[in-house]
Amino acid sequence: MAEADITDIKSIGVLGAGQMGAGIAQVFSLAGYDVKLTDISEETLAESLKTIEHHMKRQVTKGRVNPDDVSSALTRIETGTSYSLFGDCDVVIEAATENEELKREIFKELCPALKADAILCSNTSSISITRLASVTDRPAKFMGMHFMNPVPVMQLVELIRGIATEESTFDTIRTLTQALGKTTASAEDFPAFIVNRVLLPMINEAVYTLYEGVGSVDAIDTAMRLGANHPMGPLELADFIGLDTCLAIMSVLYEGLADTKYRPCPLLVKYVEAGWVGQKAGRGFYDYSGDTPVPTR
Ligand code: NAD
Repeated sequence: MAEADITDIKSIGVLGAGQMGAGIAQVFSLAGYDVKLTDISEETLAESLKTIEHHMKRQVTKGRVNPDDVSSALTRIETGTSYSLFGDCDVVIEAATENEELKREIFKELCPALKADAILCSNTSSISITRLASVTDRPAKFMGMHFMNPVPVMQLVELIRGIATEESTFDTIRTLTQALGKTTASAEDFPAFIVNRVLLPMINEAVYTLYEGVGSVDAIDTAMRLGANHPMGPLELADFIGLDTCLAIMSVLYEGLADTKYRPCPLLVKYVEAGWVGQKAGRGFYDYSGDTPVPTR
């Protein structure tokens, strides 16, 4: 595997400042890169910066980050709502809401704002990299760079080539990922790639188990934590990922693989329709309004 020369990569753009965008901005700024972070509103960006600072300080208390590095990392993050912020970025990573139409619109608007040789990546959990690349002006310089949640903690980054991705693009992003101290796994461009192709049907099945009354939220999560040695129960994990994201991924699997075994559980659909999308909304399979999460069923 070729090691790419990444010495020219200085500035990283992150589009979308939600859970994933904030985490991606955090790891790149702590690694010494300049980071440009955008979202649709200044309020979201201000919240996101607060989250990044809070998470960096927690890493300091755990002895994982040097306190001096936090203040310099924070000064390296610039925020704004305009894509013109990405004008000098060498790599831009899109981490907006998991919705293909939205991402397509974003890429069409974003591309004219980028340097001609900038590499564009999507952090999508499930959507075809080839299809997303096709709406950009640079399919050869486009690929999937799928960070895991929470980004600063999780070791893996799944890397996905679209049909047009050039080998030099892939090598550059793999070397850059390794420079962050992460491990890469390469996946082909199939719906939901590797991690979510395996993980999400398990989560969806846990929701069916709840829907059919086989067990309560607490029983299902306890059973899988202690019976299968999973660090988190599947419903707790679904809340952490975001139930909107879980539903979006199941829909991509269901439609993309045309197999009824991927049918999103109606209860998952109902929770998303109710706005109960998990931790980020304060309610999902657990209620997060108190000090400790309380199961809702
Ligand atoms: P999120 O809901 O926390 O954040 C999405 C952000 O995108 C929001 O802040 C939203 O305002 C912003 N956004 C929407 N439209 C935008 C636009 N036009 N321009 C700029 N920003 C815009 O979602 P998330 O969990 O951070 O997920 C983001 C992406 O990362 C999705 O593609 C998701 O599938 C992927 N992902 C999520 C996880 C996870 O566990 N949540 C893990 C890996 C990958």
